[in-house]
Amino acid sequence: MTPPATPETPLDPDDRARLLACLSEVFGYEGLRPGQEDVLSHVMGGDDVLAVMPTGAGKSMCYQLPAVARGGLTLVVSPLIALMRDQVSALRAAGVEAGSLNSATDPDERRRVLDALEDGRLRLLYLSPERLAGGDALRLLEGRRVDLLAIDEAHCVSQWGHDFRPEYTRLGEVRRRLGSCQTIALTATADRATRDDVARQLFDARPAILVHGFDRPNLRLAMRPKAGPRRQIRDFLALHRGESGIVYCNSRRQTEELATDLLADGVDAHAYHAGMEKADRERAQDLFLARDGVVIFATVAFGMGIDKPDVRFVAHAGLPKSIEAYYQEIGRAGRDGLPADTLTLYGLDDIRLRRAQIDESEAPEERKRVDRQRLNALVALCEAPRCRRQTLLAYFGETDTEPCGNCDLCLDGVETVDGKIEAQKALSAILRTGERFGVEHLVALLRGEATEKIRRFGHDKLPTFGVGADRTKIQWRGIFRQLYALGIASFEPADQGAWKVGPQGRAALKGEASVRLRLEPERSARASRPSRTRAPAALPDGVDEALLQRLKARRLELARAEGVPAYVVFPDRTLIEIAAARPDSLAAFGRLHGVGAAKLERYGEAFLAVVRTASDSA
Ligand code: ZN
Repeated sequence: MTPPATPETPLDPDDRARLLACLSEVFGYEGLRPGQEDVLSHVMGGDDVLAVMPTGAGKSMCYQLPAVARGGLTLVVSPLIALMRDQVSALRAAGVEAGSLNSATDPDERRRVLDALEDGRLRLLYLSPERLAGGDALRLLEGRRVDLLAIDEAHCVSQWGHDFRPEYTRLGEVRRRLGSCQTIALTATADRATRDDVARQLFDARPAILVHGFDRPNLRLAMRPKAGPRRQIRDFLALHRGESGIVYCNSRRQTEELATDLLADGVDAHAYHAGMEKADRERAQDLFLARDGVVIFATVAFGMGIDKPDVRFVAHAGLPKSIEAYYQEIGRAGRDGLPADTLTLYGLDDIRLRRAQIDESEAPEERKRVDRQRLNALVALCEAPRCRRQTLLAYFGETDTEPCGNCDLCLDGVETVDGKIEAQKALSAILRTGERFGVEHLVALLRGEATEKIRRFGHDKLPTFGVGADRTKIQWRGIFRQLYALGIASFEPADQGAWKVGPQGRAALKGEASVRLRLEPERSARASRPSRTRAPAALPDGVDEALLQRLKARRLELARAEGVPAYVVFPDRTLIEIAAARPDSLAAFGRLHGVGAAKLERYGEAFLAVVRTASDSA
């Protein structure tokens, strides 16, 4: 069902002129991105807003731009210190007075922020939710006018979201104490249940709920059954030498094993998980932000609030938690809009683990029911018989889409066969053994393998014994996953993973339902080899690659000297534009993407000098 989103509203012409001038002069960007105009028109019109925008659509500009154009004080609530630090660096580099107060703020910095607050120069103040809800910051703000409260990662308010944070639930109260000031809540991933809950908790009256295109066409989507995940991940990374990326793992041990493997392959690989010393984690994150080509092997603790625009790939070594989590995690790639690659591996063991986590949680029954449905939707995406992007967007309520041409199913093609007979054989194996056995036993039975367990239970005497000998183990496991995705068969983690006939199973058993199945090839070749298609090329035509490398080196020197991440100086996209356009004057340089007045003055000559040297030596 399509959510009841507020219809799109264009900007008032005067507001548009003001915002565009500010966007160009301060930030160096020309034109608004899709979705931004709608959100900005509501913000400029004084409305409260809940905006759902994909990562990379320029969410932060929806509050930064009004903060700079309108003046006054904007509070930004953000869960991660790293994100605050980076946004504050980027704003200051653009000449905007911004600051943050959090547990890592030193006394000098605190003084600078308080002085700017005192004499009304501070435009954006970043606070953690604990800080703001803790009373300390509220006292500081007492008697001051807050013009806009921006709540980033707003899905954390909701227990329905995938990343609930208790301190976020107090933000509705904080908002009232700030005189119910104008508020914009932003998130990249929230399905309908989550959006409604966030709106209810944060606002007294229903805000404008703006849902903007989830599509990220620059992300290549691919999902594959596990067939030696270590090798699959290595093969995938071989396509991305020298690029920055994240590999999400389902266990701490796996992050360390994979990082060690890849280090031996010459990759700048680092593990990141909650069991590491804080200093080691911070070092890994800082390296990732500062250097090109760092690959982080992480549990899901990594990446929230990481603002690095040039992450070129994200891989999952196992099934993510939900479609929302999947989308948010892959969304960390390609925020600069350039091509980026993703790969997700999945297997029945993951599905079982996720089911067990849901079943064993303390959550109320209603919540567990929704979580099971969400898991099933994710498995259905893994086993999708058509374009993955269409399946993904349909989950978020966008149904009017064409096949994307940039996912594994569009690129490699997908063949489905009539799976009626296979479904009947599998169901028969489940029923004839009393719905008491796990998938490996059922596969052995179907394939006619007289294992000790098969003989002990007398299953070699069943008529089902060996009826599936024409299919490999890998094919049968794939069939079971798809029967699960279709609701034809299911399993109970609490009952040692015993398979049961699912709600759609009776009709399938009688041959009344049509069952289309994808069949894995006989060998695991398809599952293990990298996609036939090559990694997406990251560089447009006409870019001088040697010059680009020199520009990157210069950027790194400047970033080091100022103690900021490289992309705060300029994002890759700006360097690529320099390497293509070879500007010969400050005026020409100032027209490039990401070059505002402050950055032109601070960095213009330094980069022009690199271009000149390259031209002289050419
Ligand atoms: Zn597609």
